[in-house]
Amino acid sequence: MSEHFPDHIAPINFARNGKSIQQKLAISQLERACSMLISDQGEILVDLHFNTDESNLPVLTGSLKATIQLPCQRCTEAMDIALESTFEMALIQDEKDEESLPEQYEALLVDDKAFSLKDFIEDELILSIPLVANHQPEHCDATQFLQDPTEIEIEEQRENPFQVLEQLKGEV
Ligand SMILES: [Zn+2]
Repeated sequence: MSEHFPDHIAPINFARNGKSIQQKLAISQLERACSMLISDQGEILVDLHFNTDESNLPVLTGSLKATIQLPCQRCTEAMDIALESTFEMALIQDEKDEESLPEQYEALLVDDKAFSLKDFIEDELILSIPLVANHQPEHCDATQFLQDPTEIEIEEQRENPFQVLEQLKGEV
């Protein structure tokens, strides 16, 4: 594994030559994605295969795996979330070509002379980030949110404000 992550590549040319990319990319290198996360720690495991299919269509298949950190919506503590995104894409150079693609493919419009692999990976990562993250109740520190809201309401109704006042007086 080389340390330098390839960014500007020619995807169509890669497909014709059957190239693969298996590398790690630091999440901290992806600014847009980082702005959505609580931490820029961690890496993305990138596994990409450029190829042509039986009808000579340039395709990109593979997966991205990463563990990201989002704040829990209940207790605001950071929580780890494992993401995995797999894809099977047809590389097209003209939007019109999308209509004639076999159904199994997503279309990816590429410019063979100006294609950023990092941008592609970042877009895919961002799409797979969940909008809301919550710990499992048993692992969350925010226990006050775990009660059934209807139970809380009933308890409040039962409480007589005058009794509470008397209790307070008695304590002074
Ligand atoms: Zn939590």
